[in-house]
Amino acid sequence: MKHSSNKSLDIAIIGAGPVGCHAATLLAKLGHNVTVYEEHKKVGEPIQCTGLLTKDFDKFFPQIAKSKDDFLVNTFSEVIVKSKNQTLITNQKEYLVCRTKFDQSFKKRAQAAGATIKTQHSFIRKEGRGLIIKNKTTQNNSDHSNHQNHSNHKNHHEFKIIPDLVIAADGPLSKTAKAYGFYEKTRKNYYGIQAVVEKQHGPNNNHNTASLNHFNKDTFITYFRNDWCPDFFIWDVPENKQQSRVGLASKKPPKKFFQKFIQDNNFEIKQMQAGVIPIYSHKQKMQKDNCYLLGDAAGHVKATTLGGLIPGLRAAKILSQKIQSNTYKVGGYHKALNKLRRELLLHKIIRNLMDHFTNNDWDKLLSLVSQKKIQKVFEKYSRDNPIPLTFFSLIKEPRFLYFTRHLPKLILKN
Ligand SMILES: Cc1cc2nc3c(=O)[nH]c(=O)nc-3n(C[C@H](O)[C@H](O)[C@H](O)COP(=O)(O)OP(=O)(O)OC[C@H]3O[C@@H](n4cnc5c(N)ncnc54)[C@H](O)[C@@H]3O)c2cc1C
Repeated sequence: MKHSSNKSLDIAIIGAGPVGCHAATLLAKLGHNVTVYEEHKKVGEPIQCTGLLTKDFDKFFPQIAKSKDDFLVNTFSEVIVKSKNQTLITNQKEYLVCRTKFDQSFKKRAQAAGATIKTQHSFIRKEGRGLIIKNKTTQNNSDHSNHQNHSNHKNHHEFKIIPDLVIAADGPLSKTAKAYGFYEKTRKNYYGIQAVVEKQHGPNNNHNTASLNHFNKDTFITYFRNDWCPDFFIWDVPENKQQSRVGLASKKPPKKFFQKFIQDNNFEIKQMQAGVIPIYSHKQKMQKDNCYLLGDAAGHVKATTLGGLIPGLRAAKILSQKIQSNTYKVGGYHKALNKLRRELLLHKIIRNLMDHFTNNDWDKLLSLVSQKKIQKVFEKYSRDNPIPLTFFSLIKEPRFLYFTRHLPKLILKN
């Protein structure tokens, strides 16, 4: 299918994460000349993500969901949320994916659509209208895209490209957005740390922990406890009966909290992973000149759970639709993101309130959510649909307004 203006654009995408590759697929299908530059050797490695997706993945991306078996590790039917003195059990369908296989499947779709993926190619800096890319492969790559210009540059490992459009999908610290001078200065990040663990047989298994020697593979658990994780929550997401992905995020260095959690639960670490997770900023502009932000580079992450896969992939679809209708320029893309941005803002406000929660607040929240009438709302709307989720929860249970008592602290802070 050709795009409506009938002009094939040269598009450079920086970053071959799932979001960059998804944009590449959609734009190559429209007939554009798309090249994706990825600094790592292999797409999908190293893994820095748990890989949880809500059931809404099927709704937003029905075509991709058809080949879910290529990257699916586990499917959950239940989520347990624990605070210090309360336990909430909810029926929720969620997916766990292998991020390497997930990212690889997005790469393959992009290539099948006609996009070129260049691994070991880093965006280095901007020079005038061009971008300097560093080729870290030893051999001379001969299948260069047609927006590439070698002659201008002294170092043969570096070359200049002058694409019509640049898509920054290069993660939370986006060098591309910084080079274009519109990486929002007030943006902040969480540090995420996680491990693949097994349970050890031993005396440490006490009443605070899941004391069985295997994981319940149908259920994942989140812990909201200020003593284990003061400014976020801990997740325990089983791959199978033997192994689970456990992790936490914090604005402070998370290692100390993580070690305590691992010790308290008598887990044996098999593999460690860590990464930066952006906190959504409503001030972040989504486009400047010929540069467009996507995914973590845009800060498209739900601040309540730090899930960024579905929002990032949704934004890629929105950008491709705006390019197709030739309405992406002069703020057109930024405006088209308004619905998603409102949702992410709601997540951020809820997160900011939660930042002030005491252990008692968590207990109270869980007891309110455990009511049948609220459970029904949660079963209907996932966190990828936060506006009706919040609205109907408040209608059915006005006592949720109790937590707005933290609002004055937020207003004073800002
Ligand atoms: C510990 C942890 C757990 C998480 N768990 C979940 C979860 O369960 N569910 C969920 O939805 N989200 C989760 N996230 C968030 C999720 O990982 C991100 O939102 C998602 O990866 C965003 O995809 P992306 O394509 O925008 O960016 P990325 O996946 O970060 O991809 C960016 C790509 O750009 C490349 N790149 C960077 N700079 C350059 C450059 N200069 N030149 C060329 N290439 C470059 C990188 O190598 C990378 O491949 C988690 C994050 C962390 C850290």
